[in-house]
Amino acid sequence: MSGNGRLGDRQGKPEQRSLFEPAPEAIRPSPALAPAAPSPPCRENEWTAITDLTELKPRILACRDCVLRGGARGVVFGEGDPEAEIMFVGEGPGQTEDETGRPFVGRAGQLLDLMLKAIGFQRRQVFIANIVKCRPPENRLPLPAEVAACLPNLKAQIRVIGPQIVVLLGALSSQTLVDSSIRVTRDRGKWFERDGRSFLVTFHPAAVLRDEQGKKGLLLDDFRSLRSKWEQVRRGNVQHPD
Ligand code: URA
Repeated sequence: MSGNGRLGDRQGKPEQRSLFEPAPEAIRPSPALAPAAPSPPCRENEWTAITDLTELKPRILACRDCVLRGGARGVVFGEGDPEAEIMFVGEGPGQTEDETGRPFVGRAGQLLDLMLKAIGFQRRQVFIANIVKCRPPENRLPLPAEVAACLPNLKAQIRVIGPQIVVLLGALSSQTLVDSSIRVTRDRGKWFERDGRSFLVTFHPAAVLRDEQGKKGLLLDDFRSLRSKWEQVRRGNVQHPD
């Protein structure tokens, strides 16, 4: 498989961090951004008995743990196969997603659908979610405190769905779920193994829309790599180290 070397294989490799340990640089609010309020309760620990997405969903829809909920129409939970083998993680809902309550349904979502089709998948076969579940104002990048507040929701989704492959769309999801030192332009196409799952770093589709000539072919390469990894997983040829 081309372009799928793991960062861990490279010299000067970054420190490996478990998905279920916080990535301090990625999610810890800087002093300037830290909210005055105490951190939200760690609901992940309360939710360990939940094994069904339909049970998890109302809890996540009721989340009021950061300021984003106040400026959004609703919580965009995510959608797809509740037992998907492949899960995609974006940044956060945009305007169309906020209006419809569905992830990746605007222009970036159309590109995602196109890429899935190009490798022989339909959207309903995978699960699509975001790092933050409420639209940030003006589509700005979620702040570290907002990412930290929402992360238990995503971690619970990953645990319950149990995908073998997680596709990280852009820097925020890559840095939050795998390693804060990831740079998408340098590391796209690479696979990382964490907590018994394979994680693929690739471009956020919105970044590709801003530079189709430079990035669309590379995005397609990454999706082809995804297809062959999925085929290996299906054949039982992928050994997750942890
Ligand atoms: N961009 C994202 O990161 N997520 C969406 O759901 C839509 C656009």
